Amino acid sequence: MSTQKITIIKGDGIGPEIMNATLAILQAAGADIETEETEAGEKIYLSGITSGIAPDAWDIIRKNKVLLKAPITTPQGSGYKSLNVSIRKFLGLYANVRPCISLHPFVRTKHPNMDLVIIRENEEDLYAGIEHQQTDEVVQCLKLISRPGCEKIIRYAFEYAKLYERKKVSCFTKDNIMKQTDGLFHKVFNEIAAEYPEIANEHMIIDIGTAKLADTPEQFDVIVTPNLYGDVISDVAAQITGSVGLAGSANIGEECAMFEAIHGSAPLIAGTGTANPSGLLQGAVQMLNYIGQTEVAAAIQNAWLKTIEDGIHTADIYKEGFSIEKASTQRFTEAVIANLGQLPATFPVAYFGKNQTIQLPAYKRKPAAHKELVGVDLFVHWQKTNPEQLAAQIKQLETEEIKLTMITNRGIKVWPDGFKETFCTDHWRCRFKPVSGASIKKEHIVNLLSKAIHEETDIIKTENLYTFDGEPAFSLGQGQ
Ligand code: NAD
Repeated sequence: MSTQKITIIKGDGIGPEIMNATLAILQAAGADIETEETEAGEKIYLSGITSGIAPDAWDIIRKNKVLLKAPITTPQGSGYKSLNVSIRKFLGLYANVRPCISLHPFVRTKHPNMDLVIIRENEEDLYAGIEHQQTDEVVQCLKLISRPGCEKIIRYAFEYAKLYERKKVSCFTKDNIMKQTDGLFHKVFNEIAAEYPEIANEHMIIDIGTAKLADTPEQFDVIVTPNLYGDVISDVAAQITGSVGLAGSANIGEECAMFEAIHGSAPLIAGTGTANPSGLLQGAVQMLNYIGQTEVAAAIQNAWLKTIEDGIHTADIYKEGFSIEKASTQRFTEAVIANLGQLPATFPVAYFGKNQTIQLPAYKRKPAAHKELVGVDLFVHWQKTNPEQLAAQIKQLETEEIKLTMITNRGIKVWPDGFKETFCTDHWRCRFKPVSGASIKKEHIVNLLSKAIHEETDIIKTENLYTFDGEPAFSLGQGQ
């Protein structure tokens, strides 16, 4: 096998210290890699590049395809784009894989039997970053969930469970409320779970799922979830293992991959020589598995577990009664290197099979459904508060065939038959549908809009209402 070239970014704060420690361990273990360093982070942000990454850094990252990245500091203030989100989206790194394992009885935790992996969708959901202010009082963020996005991440979770001999995949969504977006994620989960009868599966609503995760994490094995929920629950899960300083994560795409620690640049302890390099090292172990150097990965993992067992602990995990020695970053690194070739006595010995790559089949687009336009929602900026008055104004737009059927405010039906107690903002959704026996065409919508301009009604957006193969594909008004 030829030497694998990888890009490294040393980052900010404790980044360079933990990167140097990690590279020293990789080198001592005989990892067959050649590193090419490039720069991203605070210095680049402050030079005026709002993405935090220079164009020539992209060239290096795309050429080498494998990136080991230490944490970076995002400067305070608006206008700076998250470097992590940019890297994940530009490189199509759709799967964020974060193992969270407690190291009982050597690291203090309330959850001694926790051993789970969170697989978070990494590219879409509310992280599409499409936001608009529509009225004086209301802003919106579009939540986009796609079938290819769901299929890729959910299949990845089941393939991961198969490869690592895990028994169960749990899916967390909020599809009792978001029936279209989270509903699609849950539906695709059911479809794909059926292809893996040997792996148990379950679905939980995200709120009770998170509560159970925080209370009895040992009941979970692999968890797959959309982007935002995954962001939140993976920090909960890492924290309750004992320290955020212990976990690494992989961001996997079809062509490229990025590996990192889950924590930030910890600026307050930068330069003190006390940072725990374990999180980045755990990212590097995942990287070695990804590039096929599984024996080196296992040797490092076993030496690391042995060091934790020996009670040689950095300050973040040092506890009287659990630890033997409070170690600096350098001392901890030397201890891991000295333990290379040794095995842990209490923790299960790490072994990674030869082939650790997960290859998903190419996405196959389903035949297009029969799509029929059945109505339109006009969103109106209107500053008064009586829905009856708004209905009277909006009814001026009606034609013989297309009628106003409902008005909602923040999703709650306020006309007809609204409650006077319902609080209303200046953002109204007015639903138009054809009368029985008639149909609606896009020309009707254009007519509604041009009448609205004439009547000086402030339409801020429209949303077409469709059925797909006869199934309504839009939400009802709350209370409808
Ligand atoms: P943080 O993770 O840097 O620090 C949280 C706490 O954990 C601090 O007390 C810190 O001292 C401690 N800690 C973190 N890593 C540690 C380690 N390896 N060893 C010992 N202690 C450790 O989170 P924060 O303070 O919210 O963020 C600091 C900066 O990091 C911010 O600029 C933020 O934007 C950035 N950040 C970057 C990434 C990334 O690059 N992936 C992720 C999160 C935050």
